[in-house]
Amino acid sequence: MADEWRKLLKGSLRTPAEIARTFGLDLEEVKKVARHFKIQITPYYAGLIKRKGDPIWRQVVPDPAELDADSGALDPLSEDEDSPVPSIVHRYPDRLLFLVSHMCASYCRFCTRKRKVGDPAKIHPRYIEDGIDYIRAHSEVRDVIISGGDPLLLSDWRLESILSRLRAIPHIEILRIGTRVPCVLPQRVTPELAAMFKKYHPLFVNVHFNHPDEITEEAGRALGLLADAGIPLGSQTVLLKGVNDDPETMKRLMQKLLTVRVRPYYIYQADYVQGTEHLRTTVDKGLEILQALRGWTSGMAVPYFVIDAPGGGGKIPLIPNYVQSADEKQVVMKNYAGEVYVYPQPKDKAPKEKIRRRRPSIAPCLNVAPPV
Ligand SMILES: *Cc1c(COP(=O)(O)O)cnc(C)c1O
Ligand code: SF4
Repeated sequence: MADEWRKLLKGSLRTPAEIARTFGLDLEEVKKVARHFKIQITPYYAGLIKRKGDPIWRQVVPDPAELDADSGALDPLSEDEDSPVPSIVHRYPDRLLFLVSHMCASYCRFCTRKRKVGDPAKIHPRYIEDGIDYIRAHSEVRDVIISGGDPLLLSDWRLESILSRLRAIPHIEILRIGTRVPCVLPQRVTPELAAMFKKYHPLFVNVHFNHPDEITEEAGRALGLLADAGIPLGSQTVLLKGVNDDPETMKRLMQKLLTVRVRPYYIYQADYVQGTEHLRTTVDKGLEILQALRGWTSGMAVPYFVIDAPGGGGKIPLIPNYVQSADEKQVVMKNYAGEVYVYPQPKDKAPKEKIRRRRPSIAPCLNVAPPV
């Protein structure tokens, strides 16, 4: 049934009393967290929890540690500074974020937009018109990332009204949707939704999975409907302490994503968000995980590892250091298993001056993203 998802969503755990009772928490503490940050968990996602404090639990069950206001920032990526109208974050030359929904099916405790999600005053439907006008007026924008909150909590009708108007703008080449719905409320992905999306190609969907246990049969069905509609699927994963901060878990997640036709796109270092200190890892952990992926499993399963720089610097890719030394004669590097190999540079060198200028780009601390 097409509207089954609405019933499931309505049945979500959301009042402090329900949350405290279901998870055996102190009611007063839950109330305190709820005063600052939205709490909601779909019955489906709650059903994936196997035991107290497990990787699914840690992502959505509120924790008093969220009240620690000593570290982190409310708007760590300074999104509000790059926001010409409330629904737009325009940071890069040719693409922007378009925030169309304040709602999420389940609220992630680590969310970068914790300050905004769940609050209709901050991401209001009336801002959508302003967003579309802004995009129409900016012909340098060729790629719109529809995000929120979760865009898939809008009705098919509302989503289509946004997609069709964006598609009618001549300079918009591609549309992207960022959503966690296939992970937390897969029932929302219906054949009707997929058929509607299909009318607005080229349309990409980036989903958000953080643990292999999230890739269930239901999630597989939802992703299959989207993939069958010709939508290229990518995934974004946030590196989180006690959730996926070990190489084996992350490798399994990346491999399982491929089995449901999702190409891993980004692993994010957790943003420096207020109230999420208990979920952050070191950056080294991310590099260790990347090193445990590259070469050890399908290259298709290896995403970029990025830090979204605090202060609004954008996403910066980090890769483990494979280059040991590099000069005009040769590049010495380690392979995935730690063995050393040498690549001889061409004998026929470019003029000296050019080499000198180019050299910094092949310095041993090389930290560039591999080609896609
Ligand atoms: C992540 C992000 C994008 C998209 O970046 P890609 O690397 O192209 O996926 C665009 N705008 C903002 C503000 C972002 O944070
Ligand atoms: S689904 Fe996305 S926007 Fe919503 S709470 Fe989770 S991370 Fe934040």
